[in-house]
Amino acid sequence: MKRPRVVIVGGGITGLTAAYHMKQLFERGAVECILLEGSSRVGGKILTYREDNLVLELGADSVVEHMAAHDLIRNLGVQAEIVPSPADAEHSYILSEKRPVPVPAPLYFGIPADWRVVWRTPLVSPKGKWRVMLDYLAPRSNHESTDDPEPSLGAFLRRRLGDEWTTEVCEPLLSAAFAANLDDLGLSATYPELSQLETRYRSVLHGARQTEFKDRFQRHLLTLRNGMQTVTERLFDELRDFADIRTDSPVTKIQRFENGQYTVETSVRDTTEVILADAVVVAAPAPVAGQLLCSLSAKAAKLSAIRYVSTGTVLLGYPAETVMGFPGTEVFVPPSASAYVTKITVTSRRWPHLTRDERIIVRVDVGRRGQQDWLGMEDTNLLASIEDNVQRILGISAKPWFRKLTRWEKGIPQYEVGHLALVAEVEEHLKVDAPGVFLAGAAYHGITVPECVQSGLLAAEKTAAWVKA
Ligand SMILES: Cc1cc2nc3c(=O)[nH]c(=O)nc-3n(C[C@H](O)[C@H](O)[C@H](O)COP(=O)(O)OP(=O)(O)OC[C@H]3O[C@@H](n4cnc5c(N)ncnc54)[C@H](O)[C@@H]3O)c2cc1C
Repeated sequence: MKRPRVVIVGGGITGLTAAYHMKQLFERGAVECILLEGSSRVGGKILTYREDNLVLELGADSVVEHMAAHDLIRNLGVQAEIVPSPADAEHSYILSEKRPVPVPAPLYFGIPADWRVVWRTPLVSPKGKWRVMLDYLAPRSNHESTDDPEPSLGAFLRRRLGDEWTTEVCEPLLSAAFAANLDDLGLSATYPELSQLETRYRSVLHGARQTEFKDRFQRHLLTLRNGMQTVTERLFDELRDFADIRTDSPVTKIQRFENGQYTVETSVRDTTEVILADAVVVAAPAPVAGQLLCSLSAKAAKLSAIRYVSTGTVLLGYPAETVMGFPGTEVFVPPSASAYVTKITVTSRRWPHLTRDERIIVRVDVGRRGQQDWLGMEDTNLLASIEDNVQRILGISAKPWFRKLTRWEKGIPQYEVGHLALVAEVEEHLKVDAPGVFLAGAAYHGITVPECVQSGLLAAEKTAAWVKA
């Protein structure tokens, strides 16, 4: 009997994890797995620069401690490479009136865990502080018991803590990870813990003090000594005897036969190849998934409506002594303070193992929703402007000895209000219209690397159940 064949579209961390988990779920030789990656390399948004005696992340630079990521790292045998971010690296600042001001602490997802935290910070006026205090008295929202759509993250925070705290404190901190505006992000898809706080304790200030939530809000970051790319490289090695991994093989069409099988078309150097498949995991960005699947299920066209924002990563190297004037690890930059810089991290303080020969690396994250003009700038002009920003904000006068710009065009999906409902609707229709086709990746149930790993694992499990049924 012919072996069933599974095709995976997209070789980022999600697609690679899905393939790796299938290797664990199927007996040796029981399934044929083909992974088609459109670009010239696997890894997607995970990309490490290893030259000039440096190990630097051009994309994702760390992961929050998470069971799925930990298990994967352990199974791949690279746990000895784990480097936790030192506890004393948590010195974060927000740029306010042109100077970095310490982030009030303790603060969990923008929520102060103590009223004294609110009164001590110069980031908000006395009026804004009194408004935060109203959270202790404000009733719960009843949006869950009405037909109202979910609130945006911004609307939720403004209702609980007021406009000023939301704009001056929450916006720079929370919008950086999603490269988004808080008023566009859906609460349930981004920080569902916040609405749980309200449901459980009514006052989010009161709720943030409870140990149960404090533990969940603490973020312990870790990275890998030789770079995050170690994971995708190890996955690639582990898959050598299981999957046929093809790069430069963009998938252009997926169709369904009456017998329930699928054809996956890939075009390699102007030649189209058609591959027959019993199951397909689509782990490419949502607009690609929408375009590939809309002929199988009309609802899948909705995936193309998931917006993406382009971001950039700029790495600058300075002599260590020139950064001494700034004592912190990172500065979050609010949209009002820069046309495109969202965050500046003194990478060598966040990750001391990366410091080489008294040289310090500064990472600048660029671009968020509504701030995309930089895309039209030439690299040289963009770098010069970013250097100016860094010099001004960190108080550096030296010129960098190292510069590296990476553009991530349409790199970050935006989880807008209604996101989870849209994804659930498409997934439900796919079950009926295209059984055996599964969605996975950053566009759906979490954009972080651990969430993508989780998504890849789940896609593998669904695929195995489908193929074995
Ligand atoms: C600059 C940046 C920094 C980040 N920092 C962090 C961080 O520090 N920590 C964290 O947890 N997360 C971070 N993230 C988020 C996280 O890295 C990504 O969400 C995650 O890596 C996405 O993985 P993925 O496999 O789902 O998608 P991708 O990595 O986008 O992979 C999808 C793959 O599909 C391929 N593809 C596209 N079209 C086709 C086609 N037609 N046929 C075949 N293949 C196709 C693409 O080439 C790509 O390789 C960051 C993201 C960015 C952009």
